[in-house]
Amino acid sequence: MKQFKTESKRILDLMINSIYTNKEIFLRELISNASDAIDKLHFISLTDASVNQNFEIEIKADKEKRTLTISDNGIGMTAEELEKNLGTIAESGTLAFKSKQEEKSELIGQFGVGFYSAFMVANKIEVVSRAYGADTANKWESTGAEGYTITQTEKEGNGTTITLYLRDKDDDFDYDQFLEEYFLRGLVRKYSDYIRYPIVMDVTKSRVKENPDKKEGEQDEYETYTEKTTLNSRVPVWKQKKSEVTEEQYADFYRNKFHDYTAPSKVFHFNIEGGVNYTALLFIPSSAPMDYYQKSYQKGLQLYSNGVLIMDKCEDLLPDCFGFIKGVVDSSDLSLNISRETLQQDRQLRAIATSLEKKIISELKKFMESDRESYDKFFKELGLSIKFGVYNNFGVKKEQLKELILFHSSTENKLVTLHEYVSRMKIDQKYIYYACGDTVEKIDSLPQTELLKDKGYEILYMPDSVDEFVVKTLQTYEEKEFKSAGAKDLGLESELEKEENKNKSEENKEMFDFIRDALDGEVKEVRLSSRLKNNAACLTADGEVSLEMEKVFKAMKTASAFPVKAEKVLELNPDHKLFAKLVALYKDDQETLKKYAKLLYVQSLITEGMEIENPAEFVKLMSEVMAD
Ligand code: ADP
Repeated sequence: MKQFKTESKRILDLMINSIYTNKEIFLRELISNASDAIDKLHFISLTDASVNQNFEIEIKADKEKRTLTISDNGIGMTAEELEKNLGTIAESGTLAFKSKQEEKSELIGQFGVGFYSAFMVANKIEVVSRAYGADTANKWESTGAEGYTITQTEKEGNGTTITLYLRDKDDDFDYDQFLEEYFLRGLVRKYSDYIRYPIVMDVTKSRVKENPDKKEGEQDEYETYTEKTTLNSRVPVWKQKKSEVTEEQYADFYRNKFHDYTAPSKVFHFNIEGGVNYTALLFIPSSAPMDYYQKSYQKGLQLYSNGVLIMDKCEDLLPDCFGFIKGVVDSSDLSLNISRETLQQDRQLRAIATSLEKKIISELKKFMESDRESYDKFFKELGLSIKFGVYNNFGVKKEQLKELILFHSSTENKLVTLHEYVSRMKIDQKYIYYACGDTVEKIDSLPQTELLKDKGYEILYMPDSVDEFVVKTLQTYEEKEFKSAGAKDLGLESELEKEENKNKSEENKEMFDFIRDALDGEVKEVRLSSRLKNNAACLTADGEVSLEMEKVFKAMKTASAFPVKAEKVLELNPDHKLFAKLVALYKDDQETLKKYAKLLYVQSLITEGMEIENPAEFVKLMSEVMAD
């Protein structure tokens, strides 16, 4: 007897103890596995004429033995595959994310965990499988948590037959219903109607008994007989008319096919004809896949050629920025005996990819226009990916993508588009103002936003590290330049104000330089600020590297030999009470002014959310100054 892998055992326990009440989903799971197995053989059959093409999935209920059998004539499994596939939990990884038992049972409740879900209804399972091309078959047997055995056996033809020995009826649940014809038919129709291979079952029917001696006026006699009947309508969801598919059906299809446990946040279903021909059924998940921003994430769409699956995850169909989209593309243009290698150079496939990308962009725009609330939600989950798309590859896609991105607005206090921002700019406003920081709340309290806010200008708050790169890539939007709230010249001052500031700057030039020197190279310049209202000081940056970028590079911890640093500028507010004090100290007590300079600098670092290199020193200095 072999033991299940630990993780599998835990799942099995859950199944056997059957916390979940929706036990019927096991049938969907087994049928879906059978269909996948036939898909695989179907694909081989495209180049191998010897494959028997009469693909089907058969359901058999035996009321006497109380068994339910699901068989397919798909690709089958070798002994090693039985061991690998059924001895360990599916590697889809869905369950690995959740660690708590309750969460797992909730997950299972939502969409099942494939094969193991059969243990919810059976106390013993037999899997007899013969791999395509093999002469012998193998039998996998298990009564649950104790383990399983694999033995050699005989089987006619390739494929897999799974026999479930149903549990005994108990107070909570009647397992016998899974032996009832009408009930099984209902389940197939409910969950597996779109499966493209016939799901057949012997169905009891009645007919008029033939009676050659029938006399006038005599009643017809009826007899029952059984007939192998196809239970599913076999039209894949994407081939059905949009108007005929309910939201529920789309969601079911999505959850089942793409192993998500929540419904998609948006469905795009369209048919393109003309230069290229294809049907696409695309789904936007309600949240970013767990590993979405990691290297291990594999994007891609299922690719079908006229209903035949040719690739499970065709990466070439999706640009990275839409990598979160799941779905199916079915095209009659693709040649059937295409291989993974030739597919990449396939002209048709490239044409589909180009058309698809355009279509996705226009569908997303429509989504934004028709249901802004849901779009905002979507954008909060996955918008980062689109922002990366704007910036990636030197911005080749920026023109197409810039209408899809949203930023938090200081005046609207919600997400807005760049177009919305520009269309309500003040008449004399020259720039699109933005400010970067860790969170919207923190940005909102940055000193450098004070003047802009005071004058009633809208500011776009940019809390994502990619945001500033997006701005740099776009440079302008509708001919308006982007301007950081910390930029040297915000374009707000009149000539007169500029002149006044210049004079004031010159008056204090020596003190500014003194403070700069006291800071020991930390700042490039100390300057008079025209953007502050209530704060005494703030930090800004000259040059290409902003304070935010310095933070981003620091967080990446790469190339530490040459740290990327912003050219920092300490700005002082001449209208703040403290300014006069600084002037006085410069005259009478330069030693204390040095301390003040350091305190002001560190304070400004704190407001910017930047790292303080020596907090202890700062605290000590602060206490000293307080004690004076
Ligand atoms: P999943 O279907 O999510 O991968 P399952 O636990 O349902 O997880 O199945 C595990 C694996 O066992 C499948 O990926 C497949 O390789 C194999 N398998 C299951 N059922 C069949 C079948 N009827 N024919 C061939 N292989 C199968």
